[in-house]
Amino acid sequence: MTDGFNRNINYLRVSLTDRCNLRCRYCMPEEGISKRSHSDILSLEDIYEIVRAAVEMGFSKIRLTGGEPLVRRGVTALCRSISGIDGVEDFAMTTNGLLLPEMAKELKAAGLMRLNISLDTLDPDKYRQITRIGRLSDALAGIAAAEEAGFTDIKLNTVLIGGFNDCEIPRLVELTEEKPYQVRFIELMPIGNACPFDDKAYLPIHTVLERVPALEPVQSDGGVARLYRLPGAKGTVGLISPLSDHFCSGCSRLRLTADGCLKPCLHSAEEIPVRGLHGDALKERIAFAISRKPERRCPLSCCERSASARDMNRIGG
Ligand code: SAM
Ligand code: SF4
Repeated sequence: MTDGFNRNINYLRVSLTDRCNLRCRYCMPEEGISKRSHSDILSLEDIYEIVRAAVEMGFSKIRLTGGEPLVRRGVTALCRSISGIDGVEDFAMTTNGLLLPEMAKELKAAGLMRLNISLDTLDPDKYRQITRIGRLSDALAGIAAAEEAGFTDIKLNTVLIGGFNDCEIPRLVELTEEKPYQVRFIELMPIGNACPFDDKAYLPIHTVLERVPALEPVQSDGGVARLYRLPGAKGTVGLISPLSDHFCSGCSRLRLTADGCLKPCLHSAEEIPVRGLHGDALKERIAFAISRKPERRCPLSCCERSASARDMNRIGG
């Protein structure tokens, strides 16, 4: 469907849960989230019905996210159902990867096509520091399991944080020399109540090119990342700049939160509830959410926080 600014809205990002087995400092509070009862979040049947309605309306790209999507019980069965919907051309997941050693094979068999795995650092102490509770070896085992299960086109998401992991930019880029990964650097976003960083943490994405001048631009794959490659490397480097260079004019996304709200824009507080709706009423509400997409997001910088009322784990980044 086309929105009021002539953008084709065909990409639905679905948050399966607000819960997570990590506590990344830029994403969620240390104490986690207060436990919700099952009736507060969409059931897997509800999610399937909303995705199917969206696909019937012309959505063709679906991404599961969270919180951590792999902690939601029944996720593999949901993948099987969604991959079976006629019209789904791209079906991906964003995950921290910790549960992939147990689950990668069944997810692949269930029709999940692609994985983005978060990896902010290659240093075990720093991994623990940024995630508060995680082990780097578990995340690396998850990436290896994804490869073993036959996932190709693996993307590694690195949130660039000045004074924390900018010294690791060359090392992270070097991962692409031997492996066909896309290592994606993402500007840190000041969103929600989490994200307690000072202005030095908000590095512009061109820092990556300054630190690794050998990177050469290559043809975009149609996503939001600008792509580069080290000469002779098997993989690519993606630069994503939500702060320094917004990409609203090409935005094709709608987000579904785990509690059943559509968010027309990641950085707006507007939410459109769809829980309990079925059939034409559901489709009308999806069309309404598309019509509410703003031309561009609110101002965003180290001192101008996102207007979104939620922490990232409650939206689905
Ligand atoms: N748990 C999964 C994971 O970590 O990949 C999926 C959910 S997480 C919210 C999705 C993505 O959002 C991750 O790559 C994470 O690094 C990114 N993210 C979370 N908070 C962010 C922030 N404040 N700025 C930029 N990216 C952020
Ligand atoms: Fe969990 Fe992902 Fe948020 Fe980290 S970024 S706390 S892994 S939801």
